[in-house]
Amino acid sequence: MDALAKAIHDALAPHLQRIETKLEAVEARIASHVPRRPVTDVTKRRHKEVVAALGSRCPCCGVSEVLDATGVVQRAEYDHFYSRERRDFAETWLICVPCHRDMSDRVRYTAAFQAYQQRAVQIEAGQISLFDS
Ligand SMILES: [Zn+2]
Repeated sequence: MDALAKAIHDALAPHLQRIETKLEAVEARIASHVPRRPVTDVTKRRHKEVVAALGSRCPCCGVSEVLDATGVVQRAEYDHFYSRERRDFAETWLICVPCHRDMSDRVRYTAAFQAYQQRAVQIEAGQISLFDS
């Protein structure tokens, strides 16, 4: 970077940082006004069937049991992965409360969600319902 380019960069950087910070605040305010669309009963049922087929454990951490022996949700919540208003099956999942509260590791959370959705496609394509038999 030549001297002029460096001088321009150094002069603009703090202003761009302030704009970015303000933009994030505006995005957060907009998001807080978007109504949360609840996950439908049909979608909840599909998630419960897929999670049951995967051993009833949280698809995010793989540790916590999120369905009891009768298929009832325990210590788990339906997460809107992308945003509050997107509630289709491919946009949501059933994960344990600790995972739902702590999404700080966005890379791991995203990888787990994508893996879950891929397994769900395979399970729904090849298996009968565990709760209908
Ligand atoms: Zn979990």
